Amino acid sequence: MQILDGKKTSEEIKLEIKAEVDEIRRKGGKIPHLAAILVGSNGASMTYVNSKIKDCEEVGFKSSLIKLSDTVSEKELLRKIRELNADEDVDGFIVQLPLPQHIEEKKVIKTIKPEKDVDGFHPENVGKMALNLPGFLPATPYGIIQLLQRYNVDTTGKHCVVVGRSHIVGLPMSILMGRNAYPGNCTVTLTHSRTVNFKEICRSADILIVALGKPNHITADMVKDGVVIVDVGITRVPDTSKKAGYRIVGDVKFDEVAPKCLFITPVPGGVGPMTRASLLKNTLLASKR
Ligand code: NAP
Repeated sequence: MQILDGKKTSEEIKLEIKAEVDEIRRKGGKIPHLAAILVGSNGASMTYVNSKIKDCEEVGFKSSLIKLSDTVSEKELLRKIRELNADEDVDGFIVQLPLPQHIEEKKVIKTIKPEKDVDGFHPENVGKMALNLPGFLPATPYGIIQLLQRYNVDTTGKHCVVVGRSHIVGLPMSILMGRNAYPGNCTVTLTHSRTVNFKEICRSADILIVALGKPNHITADMVKDGVVIVDVGITRVPDTSKKAGYRIVGDVKFDEVAPKCLFITPVPGGVGPMTRASLLKNTLLASKR
């Protein structure tokens, strides 16, 4: 069993990005600039956005954080997005999700200029991904692809089972793993809450990518020997022994499943840091364009 170490790999990627930024600075070029809009004061969202800003500092990017109250109107948020679309200094930006209920997420995503959509959620970027055209890949699937690539995980001809069909993880992951590319060229099964024979399907997976958000849901009896597992799940489980009062748990029961695996990602330290590194990669790409 080998760990797909997202923490280590993301550090390597960040060093590569930093080297490129140092070179841009040396030549007097424009420093990549990522902006983030945070609506409200959701604890997890605040943590995620702060980490993204910290990552920017680490690699030498410029960053801006725009904090809006959770009572901000949809109209005002869209106005702010249009302002960032027009701001020539901003190469890419994100609107941290989820948004308050009175704001329509789809409308927000569609308002972001596709050339600055470094989260890769705009329909134009999703379409480009499906057609294998250059665009921005959503950060989490892009991070998983890079992790598989850097560990030379064999994907061609394998049966890849994706658990969960969210627009940000499961669905794009299923498209990428089925593409005529490496990593890819898999035979893909996309599963969700209505899937019948779920256990049997999981057991037939050579590669199992799990993004459902239910801690420890995948157990040893649900996977075959020699499987490659990517655990995307992040759930905060109350834990009074921790300073934060919680610990992070994945969707896979790691201790009992890991011995059966060829490769597996840990939680934390697997997909999470790769997602963050991918946002930086997309921002660098946006600034080059
Ligand atoms: P989501 O929008 O909550 O969707 C969950 C998916 O799981 C849905 O498609 C749902 O099916 C499916 N599902 C629920 N119960 C199921 C079951 N018993 N069997 C099979 N499928 C089932 O998911 P998400 O936003 O992709 O997030 C999933 C997890 O990944 C969460 O823990 C989230 O925090 C984490 N996450 C981590 C990262 C990272 O960087 N590591 C990034 C994003 C998300 P239906 O469609 O039928 O409802």
